[in-house]
Amino acid sequence: MRQFSYRRVTEVRDALTLVAGHDDAHYLGGGTNLIDLMKNGVETPGRLVDVRRLPLDGVRPTPDGGLLIGATTTNSDAAADPEVRRRYPALSQAVLAGASGQLRNMATVGGNLLQRTRCGYFADLSQPCNKRTPGSGCAAITGAHHNHAVLDWTGHCVATHPSDMAVPLAAFDAVVRYETLEGPGEIPLTDFYLPVGDRPDRETALPPGALITAVVLPPSTTARRSCYRKVRERASYAFATVSVAVALDVEDGFVRDVRIALGGVASRPWRARSAEEVLRDAPATAGRFREAAEAELAAAEPLRDNAYKVTLAVNLIEAVLTELSGKKGER
Ligand code: SF4
Repeated sequence: MRQFSYRRVTEVRDALTLVAGHDDAHYLGGGTNLIDLMKNGVETPGRLVDVRRLPLDGVRPTPDGGLLIGATTTNSDAAADPEVRRRYPALSQAVLAGASGQLRNMATVGGNLLQRTRCGYFADLSQPCNKRTPGSGCAAITGAHHNHAVLDWTGHCVATHPSDMAVPLAAFDAVVRYETLEGPGEIPLTDFYLPVGDRPDRETALPPGALITAVVLPPSTTARRSCYRKVRERASYAFATVSVAVALDVEDGFVRDVRIALGGVASRPWRARSAEEVLRDAPATAGRFREAAEAELAAAEPLRDNAYKVTLAVNLIEAVLTELSGKKGER
């Protein structure tokens, strides 16, 4: 049993102060990922700062007509919020597609963004893993990688990001707000996760010691007609093989606005900007939807055993665009 200290805080400043200057300190939210990783020795914090009782929970409108979701809001509460369901349905659907009811009752929005990959080698201390132990190698590249990345990977790591929630957040141009002892800051979700590069252990652009305080969704009429679709290996609960969040606004047969992001294909939620570019102001036809999906996956570099993900992603994007284009929605 490895010793660690535990402190529960009720003020943001106390949380920041307790973590400042302690490289081995961790914020603890719902603990649905961190505690598992502590049990198997992947995470070994010397200090846990429990942030669940900080006054950061709840969903509320922002002055510009967007929505703010506090960092300690549980996944269950975020998914069930009437405004999230009405104005950003893909976000509610994505959260409900993740984990089980019990886990969603514990897990927090802030913690969801910081969860670690579910690559099996990452959690296996007997295997080389650059994300867990920089410079040790990557067992997945030649090992079991049928559920690993097809886009944006490097020879240092081919893992995917596991969050469902982060996929529609990327599509909707959400912003992550955080606090530090020097003051507040914010990062667009699409810049929040760092490219793999040669240091896959460095995952986010958060400054050292920063505490996520909220996720902010900008106002969007297009988001009201959005959908999250997830393909996974079993129906009960599992991480995405491939998932897609799409928001689509069609007027007089032409695409007026479109947002697309993919999950399960890269080390971060993947904003499908090439597909969006093909679709913008284009006829909303099955042929154009297919062309857009293929444009996005043109850059894919599948590993030995995961080329099926490329076909799956193309089909999924096309199917969800087709479904949404036939829907009448609220403006
Ligand atoms: Fe580790 Fe990444 Fe390789 Fe998995 S894919 S073994 S997380 S370096």
